[in-house]
Amino acid sequence: MDRTSEEHALNIDPFIQIRLLDLQKVDSELDRNAHRARTLPEAVTAASLHAEVMALDDEIAGAEAALFDLRREQNRADTDVELVRQRVSKDQHLLDSGSINDPKQLENLQHELGSLARRQADLEDVEIEIMERVEIAEHALAALVTRRDGLAIDSAAADEARDAALAALGAERVELTNERAMMVGEVPADLLKLYEKLRADQGGVGAAALHRGRCEGCHMELTAVDINRIREAPSNELLRCEECRRILIRTAESGL
Ligand SMILES: [Zn+2]
Repeated sequence: MDRTSEEHALNIDPFIQIRLLDLQKVDSELDRNAHRARTLPEAVTAASLHAEVMALDDEIAGAEAALFDLRREQNRADTDVELVRQRVSKDQHLLDSGSINDPKQLENLQHELGSLARRQADLEDVEIEIMERVEIAEHALAALVTRRDGLAIDSAAADEARDAALAALGAERVELTNERAMMVGEVPADLLKLYEKLRADQGGVGAAALHRGRCEGCHMELTAVDINRIREAPSNELLRCEECRRILIRTAESGL
């Protein structure tokens, strides 16, 4: 057996040894609590909904900018049509007034009215086409806003769920921390130091129960030789698992 003089030095009241197991339970629960806080599914959901809402906000900003441009284009088209209409109206008025007698001038005027009519028709086509594009853009924007507003409600609910889960974990952590503070007071400083070092080296488990001949830390079955030695060891001797070196605590279920 490979045991250092430091380990020889530790003789611990069996009651305190059991308290160390209780402390280990609380520490493991604190570790689980911290892990759950770090990997909270509610936080993942909330973050992904936030990202979706932000992406939609960007899409909405883009759709609004596109609609703004289209409306400006629409105003320009409306102005173009209006200018041609005014020109037609003016020419028509001139024609109807009978004030022009020169045939050449009349011909020119009629010619101009003809081309103005074609120009007006073309511009009105453009106007209608833009109007349709504005309508499509308005519907697209409205759909995005509806989707964003729905997601914003989901996002707020997810935030609440995350906060509630974090608050519950926080309350549990306070309780466990208080419990731990009380227990730590009962454990001798040298034992606590050894336990903390083992916990740091051994994935958070420094003390393990000997349960039916098995170390609960590494789950290895103890050899018959070790079991026999433990049977003969004084109850206040602090045992170590030969396999994982964790503090091994005897309980009523140790199978000794
Ligand atoms: Zn072990």
